[in-house]
Amino acid sequence: MAAQDSKTGTLFIVATPIGNLSDITQRAISVLTEVDVIACEDTRHTKKLLSAFSITNKTLSLHDHNERQKQDYIAELLLAGNDVALVSDAGTPLISDPGFHLVRHCRQLGLKVSPIPGACAAIAALSVAGLPTDRFTFEGFLPSKSTARKKVFESIQNESRTVVFYDAPRRAIDTVSDIVEVLGPERHIVIARELTKAFETIHGDSAGNFLAWLQQDANQLKGEMVLIIEGLVKQENQLSESAISLLKLLLNELPPKKACAIVAQQYQLNKKTLYEYALSCK
Ligand code: SAM
Repeated sequence: MAAQDSKTGTLFIVATPIGNLSDITQRAISVLTEVDVIACEDTRHTKKLLSAFSITNKTLSLHDHNERQKQDYIAELLLAGNDVALVSDAGTPLISDPGFHLVRHCRQLGLKVSPIPGACAAIAALSVAGLPTDRFTFEGFLPSKSTARKKVFESIQNESRTVVFYDAPRRAIDTVSDIVEVLGPERHIVIARELTKAFETIHGDSAGNFLAWLQQDANQLKGEMVLIIEGLVKQENQLSESAISLLKLLLNELPPKKACAIVAQQYQLNKKTLYEYALSCK
């Protein structure tokens, strides 16, 4: 394993905008200008970005199908003292984008790998979804076939963390129908579409209502989207300890409906939630 020293170059992992070019960072512009070569998921796509910032640097292609072959070549460039930047078509490389094999290879060789942080669709969507962000899980792209997609939803049925997926809006009606079927129409979801672009739309509702909304507006099936599903909220988590103890006390003396009505009034709670909890106590 080669030690990092001043003679070896750095591999910079550079985030680029996910729509709005103004989201490029000053550091991204400097690094893309100064490195010896830029490894791009798609050189033609990245050249448009570079030309918008008058960057005329050398590029080479590194995508899912040639990453393993290119990693040795890039490591040689770095070992010879060249600095290399890695970019994907949009957002943060490696996040549902190429780069993992290259980064692992370079780190195994003891080469310096440095992030130039910036846009990431998953994080941008989470930041505006209004769903818990203290704990979340990113699950990458949903499968395009309904059977496989339903299996994924079955696997997160009891997940209490917020779940983030990438998906294609043209499949949104099928995807949300599968959510209704597997996770139920009450599960809250948010779709963040066309983030940072002209038709940016962030919409959240129960899966059942969401489906009806999508079916009325074909424009919602265009562009790019992030799907966020609220984690499973256990009914009892929504009830305070004092509400639960009053309910339990009253349940000893009164029929469940009456007991729930009193607690609902006392604590401004939803009667249905209380009733479901009362039934689960039996
Ligand atoms: N590496 C990228 C990142 O950091 O976000 C993600 C690349 S992945 C190949 C592309 C997917 O990201 C799209 O299919 C979509 O799910 C999501 N995405 C990218 N840009 C988006 C945007 N402007 N609005 C909503 N979703 C976006």
